[in-house]
Amino acid sequence: MNRKRTHVLIAGGGVAALEAAIALRELAADSVDLELLSPDEYFAYRPLAVTLPFDETEAMRFPLSQLADAVGATATRGALTGIDAWRHVAHTSTNRDVGYDVLLVACGALPLPSIEGALTFRGPSDADLVRHVLDEVARDEIRSVAFVVPWGPAWPLPAYELALLAGSHLGRRGELWVVTPEKEPLQLFGGPASVAVRELLEARNVRLRTDAYAERFVDGRLELVPDEPLEVDRVIALPRLAGTPIDGIPQTIEGFIPVDDHGRVHGVADVYAAGDATSFPVKHGGLATQQALAAAEMIAAKSGADVDPQPFRPVVHGLLLTGSEPRFFRRELHGTAENEPVAASEALWWPSAKIAGRHLGPFLATLVGHPEPHVEPPDDALAVQVPLEHDLLDELDLGRFPTGDDTPDGEPELSAVSAMDVSEVAPEDTLGEIAERMLRDDLSAALVCEHGRLIGILTTHDLIGAFAARAHPSEARARQWMTAEPITLDPPWNRASAARVMRAYGIRHLPLVEHGDRRPVGMLYLEEEAPAVMPVGLGF
Ligand SMILES: Cc1cc2nc3c(=O)[nH]c(=O)nc-3n(C[C@H](O)[C@H](O)[C@H](O)COP(=O)(O)OP(=O)(O)OC[C@H]3O[C@@H](n4cnc5c(N)ncnc54)[C@H](O)[C@@H]3O)c2cc1C
Repeated sequence: MNRKRTHVLIAGGGVAALEAAIALRELAADSVDLELLSPDEYFAYRPLAVTLPFDETEAMRFPLSQLADAVGATATRGALTGIDAWRHVAHTSTNRDVGYDVLLVACGALPLPSIEGALTFRGPSDADLVRHVLDEVARDEIRSVAFVVPWGPAWPLPAYELALLAGSHLGRRGELWVVTPEKEPLQLFGGPASVAVRELLEARNVRLRTDAYAERFVDGRLELVPDEPLEVDRVIALPRLAGTPIDGIPQTIEGFIPVDDHGRVHGVADVYAAGDATSFPVKHGGLATQQALAAAEMIAAKSGADVDPQPFRPVVHGLLLTGSEPRFFRRELHGTAENEPVAASEALWWPSAKIAGRHLGPFLATLVGHPEPHVEPPDDALAVQVPLEHDLLDELDLGRFPTGDDTPDGEPELSAVSAMDVSEVAPEDTLGEIAERMLRDDLSAALVCEHGRLIGILTTHDLIGAFAARAHPSEARARQWMTAEPITLDPPWNRASAARVMRAYGIRHLPLVEHGDRRPVGMLYLEEEAPAVMPVGLGF
């Protein structure tokens, strides 16, 4: 019997999208049709953007239609804006609806300015900014520059690369800084990487401020929590990342999509997500490919291919450009890690590309004729492969603004924080039922709980957004429209830290949960206009 081919719509034209497309072609060529939906004409290879301010080469990019052809996919221009999960239809920015059997969301993250008053380095398009600042130092017009890793979801690696490359470029001229909320430099990659990076920074005359959350840059002062300000002439910050709002898919306050270890979006049938778009706390190209591969294997198996889908087992690979010999870092972030973190001057994976992807690496290496930067593989180099270590990820704890605060309760602005009643709803409750309950109890938010654990929050703002997007009150469920994995406060609670956290995230509702089991025990409310920090209309 002929089985109908599964139409897989991949929203995205970047790292995760391409890895998934190549993997699906390899694993399930006879059972899937592939369509790439992306607003961009090109796939831009961003990791090498850090070299552009120094060598004035062209940014590396590939026409997406050519890549789609090469993997046997069709390419459609447009951005995914929402889904009708019931009808399996994707809504796009071109007002065209696209049907799917399976949807993989691989839209990446939006790079937003993270620090008021600072320059932001998002990739190739900002190379000139950095070049200009370095020229100012070279001409002795300014003296000091800080490269800043922001708090919140971010790509930390490029800040170190820019600082090291700048140190190498400027010699002993000027005063360079790296400022980061990490406890150790490039902490994600493990102890040996942090030691190597400290040494490299010292050798390049770059100073380091760790455990420092940069807030804004005003009048030559970079304001830091909890430290004293740093006086510098220019600040070049990496962007804070946020997800793209997509109607009908659960997203966190930052707009990211929670998924399981096979990339399945909870509670939305046949929808998967991979890469920076997901709520996995570490944003990195190599991890995006591993998530994409896990999703592709599951999609292939469900489409009838003979595949044993393996879960996402994150292993982070970092190739650090230093201005001389590159450094390679590898660390298993999963609970069953067999190998210690490694830092080496020789390649630890092959091809030794900056984005380590099982399929994408070799595919791009073939396209450009050679892998970059060119390093001979050692005999014992591991093929890129890719379990979850939640405690370890929590320990890294870089994503969230610090809640500790010694501001005494009772300061005038704290009177704006008040307690409100908690209303618990189930993920499968309809929006109509919840709206009715909120109206009856005069509440502006409900907590979405599964087995007593908090998994989301639904505010009047979310309800208005859902109804504006024509969600049906008796069909649309809390799970699809809630803000997933909401920002919460663990004990010990105090109103000062609550106010600080709500202001930092631009939210007005802050659930209080028991430490460890995420059972909600209360809710705080901020009675003031919250600043719009994140561009997602969720959770206010
Ligand atoms: C300067 C710099 C250096 C970096 N260095 C490294 C490194 O050395 N190693 C490493 O592993 N990672 C590195 N990264 C991070 C890496 O680039 C990202 O983690 C990776 O690209 C994430 O892959 P993704 O597929 O999730 O998103 P992306 O690669 O960003 O792709 C997202 C795609 O989705 C498209 N899209 C956006 N919105 C929509 C929509 N609504 N509908 C449909 N399509 C949409 C975009 O046009 C794009 O094609 C670096 C990043 C930067 C900026």
